[in-house]
Amino acid sequence: MRVVFLGTASSVPTTQRGLSSVAVIRGGEIILFDVGEGAQRSMIISNLNPNKVEKVFITHLHGDHCIGLLGLMQTLSMMLREKPLYIYGPRGIVGFLNDNIKHLKFHLTYPLHIQNVKQGVVVREKDYVIKAALAEHSIKAYAYRLDEFERPGVFYPEKALALGVPKGILWSKLQHGECVKIGDKIIRPEQVTGPKRRGRSIGISGDTRPSSKLIEFFRGVDLLIFDSTYGDEYADKAVENFHSTAKEAGIIAKEAGAKLLALTHFSARYDDVNSLIAQASAIHPNVTAAYDSLIIDIPYPD
Ligand SMILES: [Zn+2]
Repeated sequence: MRVVFLGTASSVPTTQRGLSSVAVIRGGEIILFDVGEGAQRSMIISNLNPNKVEKVFITHLHGDHCIGLLGLMQTLSMMLREKPLYIYGPRGIVGFLNDNIKHLKFHLTYPLHIQNVKQGVVVREKDYVIKAALAEHSIKAYAYRLDEFERPGVFYPEKALALGVPKGILWSKLQHGECVKIGDKIIRPEQVTGPKRRGRSIGISGDTRPSSKLIEFFRGVDLLIFDSTYGDEYADKAVENFHSTAKEAGIIAKEAGAKLLALTHFSARYDDVNSLIAQASAIHPNVTAAYDSLIIDIPYPD
């Protein structure tokens, strides 16, 4: 599972940073979380094929988090995309997209499925689930988390052989969690495999104040991407504008037990975010500051 940051600025872009967007790449698909203006150009720079985008999750309907979606949708039509695109966001997303499609008069070559998000499970696939929780922002906003399901445990060939299971298709069945029959004996997968292995997880805050609810929501994630619009010196602005400081991001990450914290959504006043890294690092031991095109690979935990 790979994360590519496509835009890491807060409300206005800078020469170095575009508006909010994060791509998660796993199992051959790209999942976007927010699509700020310029995100599709960032995808080109990061060598990501927009046609591989299967799902888009919008945290909230502030322009800096969703306007890029219009351009992306047009590009996909120019690429003559045929497969559906699934878009999830807060109430209002359906009207926002449909109105713009009407006014901009672009013809979609592919089915578009737009869905209002509620708290809880938003999407459940074969091997992962994406959930939403309400964030605390000036308008309705959601935080998201992606969790891969557990994987089968390590397979022990010697145990399979000792139980009389010959190498081949039966091993594969056991490895994939199916029972097999040898003579009149049933061999269960747990007899020949180790304990199930946990999958990987990512949390994405969108714009938010810190909250105890988000600590629970992000419990144990491998990577937490959190609003760090300001440093300590603008803590009052963070409250006023419903954002977080880098230190507050550090506190949430620590309390939630996140393994790695990636700060993002930096105010344009910061040319250099080292002070923000320092403030978060005083709280959490593993902090990085996102920048446009940064890649973070999330390895399996074992
Ligand atoms: Zn916002």
